Amino acid sequence: MSSNELDVPALRARLDGGLVLPGDPSWDDARQAWQLTVDQHPDAVVLAASAADVVAAVELARGAGLRVAAQGTGHNASPLGSLAGTVLIKTSGMRGVVIDPGAHTALVEAGALWADVTAAAAPYGLAGLAGTAADVGVVGYSLGGGLSWLARSRGLAANQVVAAEVVTADGVLRRVDADSDPDLFWAIRGGGGSFAVVTALEFRLVELGAPLGGTLFWPIERAAEVLHAWRGWTATLPDEVTSVGRLLRFPMMDEVPEPVRGRSFVVVELVSALDGGATDAALAPLRALGPVMDTVHPCTGAELAEIHMDPPGPMPGTGDGFLLDALPAEALDAFLSVVGPEADFPVLSAEIRHLGGALAPQPAAGGAVSGFDAAFAVFCVSITPVEAAVKATHRGLDALSEVMRPWSAPTGYLNFAERAGGAPFADPATLDRLGRVKAAYDPAGTIRGNHPVAPVPA
Ligand SMILES: Cc1cc2nc3c(=O)[nH]c(=O)nc-3n(C[C@H](O)[C@H](O)[C@H](O)COP(=O)(O)OP(=O)(O)OC[C@H]3O[C@@H](n4cnc5c(N)ncnc54)[C@H](O)[C@@H]3O)c2cc1C
Repeated sequence: MSSNELDVPALRARLDGGLVLPGDPSWDDARQAWQLTVDQHPDAVVLAASAADVVAAVELARGAGLRVAAQGTGHNASPLGSLAGTVLIKTSGMRGVVIDPGAHTALVEAGALWADVTAAAAPYGLAGLAGTAADVGVVGYSLGGGLSWLARSRGLAANQVVAAEVVTADGVLRRVDADSDPDLFWAIRGGGGSFAVVTALEFRLVELGAPLGGTLFWPIERAAEVLHAWRGWTATLPDEVTSVGRLLRFPMMDEVPEPVRGRSFVVVELVSALDGGATDAALAPLRALGPVMDTVHPCTGAELAEIHMDPPGPMPGTGDGFLLDALPAEALDAFLSVVGPEADFPVLSAEIRHLGGALAPQPAAGGAVSGFDAAFAVFCVSITPVEAAVKATHRGLDALSEVMRPWSAPTGYLNFAERAGGAPFADPATLDRLGRVKAAYDPAGTIRGNHPVAPVPA
């Protein structure tokens, strides 16, 4: 269906925010995602300014036989596919954050970024379980799971969600928690954005203390030696240490700090909630390998968001990830055969995150995805400004998944899946239950998540 069938005057009259249509002067800005490789062509874009705007968008889209897709930043816009017949609801204008320092909770509007929460919580010594990049959206990240720098000691961010304000496909605004709508509350915690449009999220914060965090750098030529040492080292760590082994090929771009611009490294990034002495003792075997740079220092919440050196703004990138059951030496050799210094796939970043600890699934208290039955997570990404680079990166990613197949977990991680058609993000029983929740709340499939869940009739 086309936007001709959307009742444009009626929708416009109800919106506190804006409605942008194809051909409008701001159309290209309105339809743009953070992920610049994605060329989104929805039927209309609603720039939501309030929960009432979301209600109006869902009601009028559904009335016109259209679907809706919610987007905070567009960090994970790649798997959405064609938006024909869809009204894109952008929540980036809804960035309110209220901290309750007594209850240790945050109540955030749908478009809040992690930077917003980190800044608002810091004066109270509190922090959310933010991911590595400050400009990722709290809602998309938390609905998908949420793997933070404190993941091994605190678990997934989705497990900290205590309530959500959502608009369901029938256009009803509801406050959803474990008592009011237990099935929907279960589904949105780890099951993604297929079930309702979230207008606000309430979640627990943690006392941050002064964790030590930073990066040890070596020349990329030492990748095998350093990553094998890191792999063995992870087996010795307490849950207070979360770390990443990574290959990084910094581009020759002005945005990249001069000391690393155009250079390539193997790095170990880490955050430790141990005290200084215990962290130094834990780090001794890696420091004995003589890193050329060592930036480990006590971090604020904002500094934690600098460790991973994520791009400061929208990027044309192509990436994908998967989970590993284990990382024996042969698996690491296979990884290096595709992305290592001698390989002909010059991926910008190839990382392996150490899981375990508090990331073990918590079926009793958690939602659809409450943790990972996996030992490591892999994510690779390249900058791909032109189609040929996108295709080359896809070929490299395919080659990597193929060589890693013997150690790959049967399920993937929704937030790290940037292509449709990868491993399912949950086991068959969980997917079946999610399908039944979808059928109960959205039988016509009005609400589109980037990782869709098909309705399963009762
Ligand atoms: C640079 C970078 C760093 C990252 N670091 C981490 C990390 O450390 N840990 C980690 O776990 N992940 C990380 N990610 C992945 C990130 O968590 C996912 O891309 C996530 O989906 C982003 O959420 P978003 O809201 O910003 O993106 P969007 O693309 O806006 O949203 C993604 C999906 O979430 C759903 N959604 C968003 N808003 C709503 C809403 N209001 N209501 C209903 N559904 C909604 C929709 O299905 C939407 O398609 C990173 C990604 C990038 C690009």
